[in-house]
Amino acid sequence: MDRKFTRREFGIMAGVAASTLAAPAIAQGKPKVVVIGGGPGGATAARYIAKDSKGAVDVTLIEANARHTTCFFSNLYIGGLRSFDSITHGYDKLASDHGINVVTGFATSVDTAKRIVTVAGGQSVSYDKLVVAPGIDFKYEAYEGYSKEVAETIPHAWQAGPQSQILRRQLEAMDDGGVFLIAPPPNPFRCPPGPYERIALVAQYLKRNKPKSKIIAVDAKDKFSKQALFEEGWAKYYDGMIEWLPLNITGGVKAVDEKGMTLHTGGESFKGDVINVIPPQKAGAIATAAGLANETGWCPIDPFTMASTRAPHVYVLGDSSIAAAMPKSGFAANSQAKACAMAIRAELTGSRAFEPRYSNTCWSMIASGDGVKVGASYKATREKIASTDTFISKTGEDAAMRTATAEEAEGWYAGISADIFG
Ligand SMILES: Cc1cc2nc3c(=O)[nH]c(=O)nc-3n(C[C@H](O)[C@H](O)[C@H](O)COP(=O)(O)OP(=O)(O)OC[C@H]3O[C@@H](n4cnc5c(N)ncnc54)[C@H](O)[C@@H]3O)c2cc1C
Repeated sequence: MDRKFTRREFGIMAGVAASTLAAPAIAQGKPKVVVIGGGPGGATAARYIAKDSKGAVDVTLIEANARHTTCFFSNLYIGGLRSFDSITHGYDKLASDHGINVVTGFATSVDTAKRIVTVAGGQSVSYDKLVVAPGIDFKYEAYEGYSKEVAETIPHAWQAGPQSQILRRQLEAMDDGGVFLIAPPPNPFRCPPGPYERIALVAQYLKRNKPKSKIIAVDAKDKFSKQALFEEGWAKYYDGMIEWLPLNITGGVKAVDEKGMTLHTGGESFKGDVINVIPPQKAGAIATAAGLANETGWCPIDPFTMASTRAPHVYVLGDSSIAAAMPKSGFAANSQAKACAMAIRAELTGSRAFEPRYSNTCWSMIASGDGVKVGASYKATREKIASTDTFISKTGEDAAMRTATAEEAEGWYAGISADIFG
């Protein structure tokens, strides 16, 4: 049952945030919230704080790009099922409907003692509370020969936008009979079922357009999310086209040869006509630079509020955070953002804060009109965000059920996009 937390309980639960309760009251004028990152985590937090505080809080959203292309449904774009425009969103409504001050620029540093964010070009923005939601960064150095520059030829397409467009163009240019080589990353990473949905939708595109082609996946893991469902679907729709190689067979990718279009593993080497390397991941660079990440490369948080346990007055949302049982997904980031917005409003305006309830569902397309899903509800405990119940599609489900799941995914995309971008 929902209940109001006492300020004392919040203090105990919030770890570092506890010190914020002892801090002097917010200076004169409206309290200021700054949000770094306008993805599902940051934009949702900005929108909910502004919307629900009805003008009582001054909200600034700092986002590097004028428009955000969602990673979710970017596999549908790569597979030719969606236009790029249909997965790209602006921030106009956040500004016009909720009075959010949208700054298009890259946040370069955070001074957590002085409570100031600096943006490329020199602009500084002060805050009472800061939300950091920069998504992921890549450990390019994990694979010899791979880098941000090489990713222009051998894309990761794991941050949607220009990278997704490169991969799409390369698939269109590939000859029939070519090899699409994909290297899924080790755990933990953004969107656990994502690489396998990509394999399915690239396979569908190739089957329809270049049926002599092959897909080889050189995985950094021995098992993966929704594995039985994907393997069933791959066999049903694309039999003989996909070869998935677990870590224990290849030893995983060790080096990337851009000129030779080859991936080297501990043993065998694999040549591709189009290569998609998805490197190991860590929290977005600004989170690390601000001292919010721990030795894992990700940012520990208070499970009740998403407050950083490493800096006062700072909250970390979405993929950058260590949300324990919750996967790194857009749905999860959106859910965390609402809990965080409620906690921040409570601190700044004295509004009520209820026990947070988190949820997540990850839909994946196996083929057009064949969708599967996995999901759970979560609750905050002192130690972590823990799952309370989980569900997953079953192998052997009939076509009507799969079509209904695919339609549900389309409905979710429309709903969550409106919830994030207004
Ligand atoms: C192929 C693929 C498919 C996926 N499918 C699904 C799915 O079906 N369902 C689902 O729920 N999730 C899915 N995901 C996962 C989902 O996209 C991510 O978990 C989600 O985007 C995380 O949100 P975020 O706000 O933490 O980060 P992001 O979406 O990465 O947003 C971060 C934002 O911060 C900005 N930024 C970063 N650093 C700075 C800075 N220093 N200054 C200013 N701005 C900055 C970036 O430009 C970006 O706009 C998928 C991911 C991939 C790659």
